[in-house]
Amino acid sequence: MTDNSSSDPRLEWDTPMYRLAVSQLDRTAERMSLDPNIWERLRTPQRAQVVSFPFRRDDYDTVETVFGYRVQHLLTMGPTKGGLRYDNDVNLGEVTALAMWMSWKCSIMNLPFGGAKGGVRVDPRTLSKAEKQRITRRFTSEIIEVIGPDRDIPAPDLGTDEQVMSWIMDTYSQQKGHAVPGVVTGKPIEIGGSQGRREATGRGVITCVLEACRQAGIHFDSTRFVIQGFGNVGATVARIAAELGAKIVALSDVKSGIYNELGLDMAAVEAWTLEHSYLEGFPDADIVTNQELLELPCDVLVPAAIQNQITEANASALRCKILVEGANGPTTLEADDILGDRGILVVPDILANAGGVTVSYFEWVQGLQQFFWSEEEVNDRLIRIMKGAFKDVSHIAKQEGVNLRTAAMMRGIDRIKEAKRRRGVFP
Ligand code: NAD
Repeated sequence: MTDNSSSDPRLEWDTPMYRLAVSQLDRTAERMSLDPNIWERLRTPQRAQVVSFPFRRDDYDTVETVFGYRVQHLLTMGPTKGGLRYDNDVNLGEVTALAMWMSWKCSIMNLPFGGAKGGVRVDPRTLSKAEKQRITRRFTSEIIEVIGPDRDIPAPDLGTDEQVMSWIMDTYSQQKGHAVPGVVTGKPIEIGGSQGRREATGRGVITCVLEACRQAGIHFDSTRFVIQGFGNVGATVARIAAELGAKIVALSDVKSGIYNELGLDMAAVEAWTLEHSYLEGFPDADIVTNQELLELPCDVLVPAAIQNQITEANASALRCKILVEGANGPTTLEADDILGDRGILVVPDILANAGGVTVSYFEWVQGLQQFFWSEEEVNDRLIRIMKGAFKDVSHIAKQEGVNLRTAAMMRGIDRIKEAKRRRGVFP
């Protein structure tokens, strides 16, 4: 492979997060003696679109210019697929890294998609509903040529939800002159969404926790969970884990965390956040910061908020037995090594949070066939596929003597390599 260093300032997407994604790829590619031509091809995205557009605040006179991104990493496997995030820190490097991870994730789960990701650099907490709708519709029209049910299919991610997907679907459909539900997944049921999609990522995370506990000889019903992030993924993990008998001892959101070593009353927490939006002020719990939360004693730690949370600085202080990555990219490469040395089992994001894209795939298939499945069917198929992938990846890890992250990447990259080899190079 030519020396195309991962920290090359000529690469527009060169950021710490992109470098993390590339370092993970390099480590795996080396381990599996990947064809250098394919290796180099996978280090950069096939397409990246950057847009800037005006957006009017509710006061009418304020018009802000905001940046939006859509990156398609791999077009070999079928349409591209990946979430759309609204966050103040969104940049081209972050979106590129997330698109790469989506490629591996889809391949591990054997889904006919390549990876993509998108985002708008905006703090969603500053947006009224009307502002969120305007920003979504304008961003959709900016990227309308690159998305579509056969091209690239967005889904919810940090700061976006079913409502945002509905506005994207409506904007796209208005342009095409007919309803096109397949342009996004994670839609509400009424416009072609799938049963079980909202909980799918969290349900997949729990499936991995159950498998990891089995592997580590831990009884699930006596486990103590610490969960960072109480949004779609974190709240679902907390709810299902509590239903299955685990104790949720700590939770957090963007503002702060709450901790009760005897276990939080989940019904009371849900009622509190419904009324107050944030966990802050919840009675019967101590206040902890997001950083303190990660170091609390527990059996299962689930980061389910943002990237870059477990680093060289705090990896030695973690007191969990199993780390299951609900968020994308929460652990740095250095931290991964420290955790490995300490015997903490890490279930990587590209496996642990792949339940979301798996049910997104179900949603896409149901939409194409106009034939919809029951929630039970969706959940059964999801759990079966997640268990199969976990088993597959664990097998590779044992066989090759590598950790689960490297094994998962080896699984994903191997399928992509074969597809690329079969298709050849055009022209
Ligand atoms: P969400 O917006 O529904 O929830 C995010 C949660 O994290 C909220 O509680 C928010 O307050 C908190 N948070 C935001 N910024 C934070 C910060 N700086 N520090 C601490 N907490 C913070 O988002 P989500 O859909 O639950 O996604 C969470 C993570 O899971 C992201 O990394 C996302 O990429 C990943 N993920 C989501 C899905 C999905 O289907 N939604 C699928 C795969 C991966």
